[in-house]
Amino acid sequence: MTHPTLTLSQITEVVNDAYEIFRHDRSGHNASYIPYLADVPSELFGIAVCLCSGESVAVGDTDYLFGIESVSKVPTAILAMEQQGAEYVLEHIGANATGLPFNSILALLLEKEHPSTPLVNAGAIAACSMIEPRGDRAGKSEAIASFAGRLCGSRLPLIGELYRSESETNFNNRSILWLLRQENRLFDDPQTALDLYTEQCSLGVTARQLAVAGATISNDGFNPVSREQVFDRRLAPQIISLIATVGFYERTGEWLFRSGIPAKTGVGGGIMATVPGLMGIATFSPPLDESGNSVRGQKAITYIARKLGLNVYGSSRPVIAR
Ligand code: GLN
Repeated sequence: MTHPTLTLSQITEVVNDAYEIFRHDRSGHNASYIPYLADVPSELFGIAVCLCSGESVAVGDTDYLFGIESVSKVPTAILAMEQQGAEYVLEHIGANATGLPFNSILALLLEKEHPSTPLVNAGAIAACSMIEPRGDRAGKSEAIASFAGRLCGSRLPLIGELYRSESETNFNNRSILWLLRQENRLFDDPQTALDLYTEQCSLGVTARQLAVAGATISNDGFNPVSREQVFDRRLAPQIISLIATVGFYERTGEWLFRSGIPAKTGVGGGIMATVPGLMGIATFSPPLDESGNSVRGQKAITYIARKLGLNVYGSSRPVIAR
């Protein structure tokens, strides 16, 4: 089996082409159920790639600070596995797709003997409750934010206005919280768990930072920019399997079918993709499809994946020239 060799300049060319092809695409709509997100300029668009060597490519609005939203479920899931062990998280939260929207109450009601995943709202709130030091709101908040920052190679600031906007309107998540409590699926104070979840979703991130996070996961937990081993390398295939299973919620199968790349989306318009052993790819573009996944980001990553032959289910992925 031959493995084509890719150079940084070939990757740069394909990323620039993707940007040019999709830069005028206006399909989709900003998330509107969180007032702050409705007002983010829809035309913003950026694509960033970080290779496992630490080299990077960026085009467009890759330094714009946007709400990380559900992509934050990934670092917190890794942190929960680091702290409690992967089997504990599997047993107490799960690793299955729900096949339903990210904030589905129906999924939660159906789940009693069939736990789902830390990458949908219910499981993510449960994961926040699991984070150490339990009983210490400030300590848990710092643990979550600093771990996310280490994954991204630099600290993620809280967007205070987004946090307030989301806290005032998160009625659906409050319902999920109390159903979790009813089923004994929380491991710390309920209000704190929801508040930490809302806070982690309100962290600001750039596409460049998300590409570094994707590269760190692709690189067995070793951040190629900060040169830090951020998490136990044995957890990398496990977090990638969680991402592949449910990264686009009820549209995950379609996404994988088209792109062949495990990736996680957020309603802030970010997508973080991981190509194990090769690179992280991140896009930022606020307009979403009906499942809450960035429309232009999906098109751009799919284009890049096809042009560069990155499908993780294929047998001849490229190697990158040194
Ligand atoms: N904070 C958002 C929510 O809970 C995150 C959703 C998302 O990005 N899919 O609704």
